[in-house]
Amino acid sequence: AWLSISAVHDATGTVTHFIASVVDVTRRKSDEARIEQLAFEDPLTQLPNRRVLMDRLHHALTAAARSGQHAALLFIDLDNFKTLNDTKGHLFGDELLRGVADRLRQAVRDGDTVARLGGDEFVIMLEALGRDAAVAARLARTVGEKIRLAVAQPLQLRDVEVVATCSIGVRLFDHQATVDDLLRHADTAMYAAKSAGRNAVRFFDPAMEAALSQRAELESDLRQALQQGQFVLHLQPQVDAAGRQLGAEVLLRWQHPRRGLVSPQAFIGLAEDTGLIHELGEWVLAQACELLHAWSQRPERAHLALSVNVSARQLHEPGFLSRVERLLQRHPVPVGRLKLELTESSLLDGTPEAVEQLERLKALGLSFSLDDFGTGYSSLQYLKRLPLDELKIDRSFTRDIVDDPNDRAIVRTIIGMAQSLNLGVIAEGVETPAQQAVLADAGCRQWQGYLFGRPQPLNDFEAGLDELGAAVH
Ligand code: C2E
Ligand code: MG
Ligand code: MG
Repeated sequence: AWLSISAVHDATGTVTHFIASVVDVTRRKSDEARIEQLAFEDPLTQLPNRRVLMDRLHHALTAAARSGQHAALLFIDLDNFKTLNDTKGHLFGDELLRGVADRLRQAVRDGDTVARLGGDEFVIMLEALGRDAAVAARLARTVGEKIRLAVAQPLQLRDVEVVATCSIGVRLFDHQATVDDLLRHADTAMYAAKSAGRNAVRFFDPAMEAALSQRAELESDLRQALQQGQFVLHLQPQVDAAGRQLGAEVLLRWQHPRRGLVSPQAFIGLAEDTGLIHELGEWVLAQACELLHAWSQRPERAHLALSVNVSARQLHEPGFLSRVERLLQRHPVPVGRLKLELTESSLLDGTPEAVEQLERLKALGLSFSLDDFGTGYSSLQYLKRLPLDELKIDRSFTRDIVDDPNDRAIVRTIIGMAQSLNLGVIAEGVETPAQQAVLADAGCRQWQGYLFGRPQPLNDFEAGLDELGAAVH
């Protein structure tokens, strides 16, 4: 209601009455709401229109700049709409568009934007896909496929069943983009999907597109690699201040039939995502146990230890402890020579469960090295709680330690901290005598890096041991 009050004065100017009038403004308000709706909403599907989309894209870019997260724009175009519209009539076409709009809405999360640009063009914006571009690409790909499949389901319109497929172009973005570019690129990718035969999802970035299909290929190869015996272990020496071999870090390699030697950086993440890491990790541990056992039979090698990388996924799997127990039963190894390299991220929380898991492994006789130390968010608090034996100074500090006073200061701090917590320290990635000298000056006494030996096949590593032995005798 709209209330207005006016005063009535007499001849002397004194107020004698007030007159109030009340007007019903329901109609006006509902008209305003309708106008607003028309301005922001597509009347056919009730989806946000182009104007809203542009506005949200601007916001998304600002949000991405603030959060460092990736987002994705999916440009969706129906493949056979024009024919359907022309042959079956416009009312039929309208119903089809409404049906598709419903499916799009159902395929995404609440916070995501689904908009209709006009005609048979829709746009979906996915936000907060994380900081890692590869992860974001995978998420966007998953949603894209989900949408493609949802749209391709037969749709019952009145008494006929229609199948409408769509082509989807994806443009992944962070804050370094403009709204116009985003729409244009997503559109380009959509056309690539059309020309690839329609009913497909394509990414704008050709390099990313290539990487994704390569990954899919790698994944199917990875599933067979273990059965086909394509994995090998390389050993990289770890030495002490006097240059004596303490043992080695075990580094996994994939001898791919076509690609040659594949680095773990290219497949460990994939193995983690697919769950293959459990089997693979167990294989690595088993190999390490066998090797330790073999070495224990030879007095000149019996002192050597092995460090095995264990990924966070493995460590957090409920069955990990019993896997290790079974392994140790099967291989009578001097367990004190087996060290597990854990990463900060796998221990980050330092939750009671994580601590307990480590304590149990420790009770079996294993020791722990904290790999890549300094790159995560380690707090002294949890370092104190966890039963660690060694900190491994990350390669990134070693690399710049000669020139960068900050890295030098950090390394000094790490070493001081390790000493006060009674932990060993080893530096990785040592390539030059200069790096070694600076590290030694900071108190480091154990080394790993190209300066002392590259990761090498077992035979070469053992040959190196023999040479060393021959030199000593
Ligand atoms: P990481 O555990 O930090 O391993 C050290 C990496 O640094 C190795 O790369 C090694 O080849 C490299 N490196 C050693 N010395 C030098 C040096 O002086 N200079 C330079 N530039 N690099 C050096 P690699 O073998 O490619 O392994 C990469 C990562 O893959 C490892 O990092 C580890 O996190 C993971 N990984 C390797 N094997 C396994 C495994 O069996 N299981 C699991 N879960 N992860 C593994
Ligand atoms: Mg390591
Ligand atoms: Mg490392």
